[in-house]
Amino acid sequence: MNSYLLQGKQGWSVIDPGPNFPGCNEEWEVAIDDLGIQFSDIKQILVTHGHIDHVGLAGWLQEQSGAEVLMNRDEYNSTFYPEETEKIGSLFYYNGMASLGINAAEIEQITNIMGYVTAVMEPWPQVRFLQDDSLVMGDRTWEVILTTGHTNAHVCLFNREEGLLLSGDQILPTISTVIRFPIGVEDNPLRQYLDSLTILKELNPTKIMPAHGEPFNDMDARIEQLLHHHQERLQQIMDCLSDEPCTVRTIVDQLFGKLDAFNLFLASGEISAHLLLLQSQGKLQISQDSQSVLLGFALV
Ligand SMILES: [Zn+2]
Repeated sequence: MNSYLLQGKQGWSVIDPGPNFPGCNEEWEVAIDDLGIQFSDIKQILVTHGHIDHVGLAGWLQEQSGAEVLMNRDEYNSTFYPEETEKIGSLFYYNGMASLGINAAEIEQITNIMGYVTAVMEPWPQVRFLQDDSLVMGDRTWEVILTTGHTNAHVCLFNREEGLLLSGDQILPTISTVIRFPIGVEDNPLRQYLDSLTILKELNPTKIMPAHGEPFNDMDARIEQLLHHHQERLQQIMDCLSDEPCTVRTIVDQLFGKLDAFNLFLASGEISAHLLLLQSQGKLQISQDSQSVLLGFALV
């Protein structure tokens, strides 16, 4: 996990303070010491998105520094006050999981894990919502670039003069970004993610600073790899399909074998997102079993 600190005449800005996990506060104390600054020198904390490995320490760091915390309004709401459709453990969520072929015992395990993984521990930050298209941090002007598909309203920051992109989780150098779990058959998060990659590509950055892994330069090459990866996955899924409806779970089992609850959740979200993209392209149809809640996916 990377946190970025930008030095400016008006003080320091932090991008993504990191997770509220044991030892992370101490890491911050060491880092502040190493830089020879005080917590009070931090004036702004920008959170790219609401996953706890990014937002987790925002409240704590705000307490230490008095800095303002900036976040997209929609992202804030879905992180701290999720709607029924996105709430882990809600009936909507339970039925959604069940419709994919995940059994009750597994849903319970997933609910426990995801409840822990998505809950932002106190103190919660006092947030000022991002309103403008750009902001100044570390004496540079940064355009706020809204990207979707990983979360509802993830932001990247782009400095046009120097071609610098703070990319959060939207594009990472060695691992593919997790596509968020679809919230219904009309949803299409993989499409959103791929469209957002196009937006980033058009910026043509020369240096990309991601939230995980090392900074890198060749974004076009990385985007090519990611497009290839998703194309390959789409084809693998097509190869699993036939005229007979099958569940998401069947495809997950076929492609990934036995998985623990957390990976079962990730894999089910990933396969669902790919299936919904294929559906939007007219390549498959979705049906609902009249005897059960199960969703069936079949070739057109
Ligand atoms: Zn994330």
